[in-house]
Amino acid sequence: MSKVVGRFAPSPSGRMHLGNLWSCLLAWLAARSAGGGMVLRLEDLDPDRCRPEYCDQVMRDLEWLGLDWDNEPVYQSRRADIYAEAFRELERQGLIYPCFCTRAERLAASAPHRSDGAAVYDGRCRSLTQPDREELFRTRRPAWRVQVPEAEVSFTDLLQGSCAENLARDCGDFILRRSDGVFAYQLAVVVDDRAMGVTQVVRGGDLMSSTLRQIWLQERLGLPRPEYGHLPLLLAHDGRRLAKRDRDLELGQLQKQYTAPELVGRLALAANLIDRSQAISPQELIPLFAWEKLPKKDMAI
Ligand code: GLU
Repeated sequence: MSKVVGRFAPSPSGRMHLGNLWSCLLAWLAARSAGGGMVLRLEDLDPDRCRPEYCDQVMRDLEWLGLDWDNEPVYQSRRADIYAEAFRELERQGLIYPCFCTRAERLAASAPHRSDGAAVYDGRCRSLTQPDREELFRTRRPAWRVQVPEAEVSFTDLLQGSCAENLARDCGDFILRRSDGVFAYQLAVVVDDRAMGVTQVVRGGDLMSSTLRQIWLQERLGLPRPEYGHLPLLLAHDGRRLAKRDRDLELGQLQKQYTAPELVGRLALAANLIDRSQAISPQELIPLFAWEKLPKKDMAI
């Protein structure tokens, strides 16, 4: 069997919160306990949200927790040429079209039933004629969508078992390049997972529906499929998903209350890797990691 290569893929748009640390710790343990490698990619595609100082902070925070990675980190903001090549390949396959809809029009043109709660775009710009497009190009800068088929995509998740979605019905044509030219996460992630030799993707369950899109893109681009494990989400006490705005669960605040081994212990207890609260290092958890122990359902912490 080939060697496992896992990855950290944080978005440096602020300080990491407990949910990010949870994903990073478990992704690291899954890879290291299999004797695998671990790579780091900074998902700083969005120039409006990401800053270089946040990238440095993310790396310091991972190190503080006791997590390491192999090789130099990869910055998505420096890889537009590589994403452009994959984009052109999909264009050659006739799958890309310009979408001129404004945000308001997009909302009007969709039925809100995607599994992640997002709206499914009805594809209205797909059927514009060439003269219509030329007319619109004069006044608007389009985003670029990929046309998905009326077909089911499925895979077996390491934790959640078998997962499937009909792309046209459940997801709809999705954006691969924004109107300001920035390539979308969905495209960058499949290109980069391949380029970085990633064989195992462990991340939060909120990305499950992205995984189905990514698997379909891999198939279109002839890329191998890594294995996927989607972790339950940690919820705030009132059942909400943790967000960057939950300042008290941001690492800067957590560091005031916990040492790194105490925080790792809290996460390890939530993951059922230990059975009582204790301070412990990621290294000490390696022999205790097993997929079968992990909880499958989202839970409050
Ligand atoms: N950058 C994404 C995030 O921080 C994770 C993407 C991924 O794991 O593919 O939510």
